[in-house]
Amino acid sequence: MALTGIEIFKLLPKTNCGECGVPTCLAFAMNLAAGRAELSACPYISEEAKAKLEEASAPPIRPVTIGIGDRALKVGGETVMFRHEKRFENPPGFAILITDTMDESEVNSRLERFSQLQYERVGLTLRPDLVAVKDESGDAERFEALVNKVKQSSDCGIILMSTNPDILSAGLKACADRKPLLYAATEDNLERLTDLAKENSCPVAVKASNLEELTQLTTKLTEAGVNDIVLDPGSRTLRRAYENQIWIRSAALNKKFRPLGFPTIVLPCEMTDDPMKEAVIASVFVAKYGGIIVLSDFQGESLFPLLVERLNIYTDPQRPLATTQGIYEISGPDENSPVLITTNFSLTYFLVSGYIESSKIPSYLLVMDTEGLSVMTSWAAGKFVADAIAPFVKKCGIADKVKHHKLIIPGHAAAESGGLEEELPDWEILVGPREGAHIPAYIKTWKP
Ligand code: SF4
Repeated sequence: MALTGIEIFKLLPKTNCGECGVPTCLAFAMNLAAGRAELSACPYISEEAKAKLEEASAPPIRPVTIGIGDRALKVGGETVMFRHEKRFENPPGFAILITDTMDESEVNSRLERFSQLQYERVGLTLRPDLVAVKDESGDAERFEALVNKVKQSSDCGIILMSTNPDILSAGLKACADRKPLLYAATEDNLERLTDLAKENSCPVAVKASNLEELTQLTTKLTEAGVNDIVLDPGSRTLRRAYENQIWIRSAALNKKFRPLGFPTIVLPCEMTDDPMKEAVIASVFVAKYGGIIVLSDFQGESLFPLLVERLNIYTDPQRPLATTQGIYEISGPDENSPVLITTNFSLTYFLVSGYIESSKIPSYLLVMDTEGLSVMTSWAAGKFVADAIAPFVKKCGIADKVKHHKLIIPGHAAAESGGLEEELPDWEILVGPREGAHIPAYIKTWKP
């Protein structure tokens, strides 16, 4: 953001009404300057001030949305070169490639993989985001039929890939309401693609053979009123593509160079024929700075690590990854099932729930909000102690779900068992193992 907190403060109403969620306009200004607040949170900013602030607060890389509704993918909006400076904002979307020369069974199996390859991890659903439909036949009707099929099979975002505006227009007939990404505007078709993007309010990718040409094309597009742009600098070797991603990010952030201030699309599917190499290349661009990553196909063994890498890179390094507080039912527990408690550090939850699941003993796992800290850390910080655990156990509703009143606490919190017996006189407190790996053996001996 170009303006400082004080400069922003001068443009605010200074009534300190608190409706923006912080008590004073100064605090709101500081949050805005740090990118922790949205301008729209203050309903009293004058139009003139709003215009000035919007201009100053526009992220150096424009956020672009592909698709609609819950499955809309927002890319771009990044403000830092390195994750530790603040955080990366919008994770890249993974797209699977489907072409209109593939036979029906291949198309069906890819669409099936696209829908089925999704994973629950740390309370989140990890899944791919987009289907890239590519014209190889040159047949507009065939392309339109394939786009229609993709649209019917999923509510995901779609990339329409062709350099022929007539073919893209046919694809748009089938899915314009889904706000697909048009790929790609080039030197030769820029005028027609500009019209298509404007008529259908769709984002458009620009493909060039170098950064200079890319700059010229995006300048022409923005001058024509198209602002939702995705960049493809045309590089198809790992080294060149990697360099281009860094140059683009650096030009946008460090030089405030608006013609390159857009998210990018990278195509590992066009960089190698080796699926494993392709996954490795994709992993590079999860970290360095792909906005959309198009893969030739999805396989669980390569997609899952990419999804986990994306999750890790795009978490906020200043905040521990936390799971929502509550009662988690594992393997269909009933009123006689064991009740265990742990903290809401995601890794703790993930490991403990995994060990319980592997024991095949249906159980309740109470996950308590300790601000994302692990058992030992939160215990040492006074957040996972009898005074805090007891009110949570009383309020969470577990007493209505089980006949017995036995609570298994982690071995590392054994010192709290006496305090808990006092705070929860109706409950028997059992001290579980110190190591999660010993949970299966421990709960196999469970008797209500
Ligand atoms: Fe100030 Fe606006 Fe926040 Fe009210 S809502 S405190 S006027 S910034």
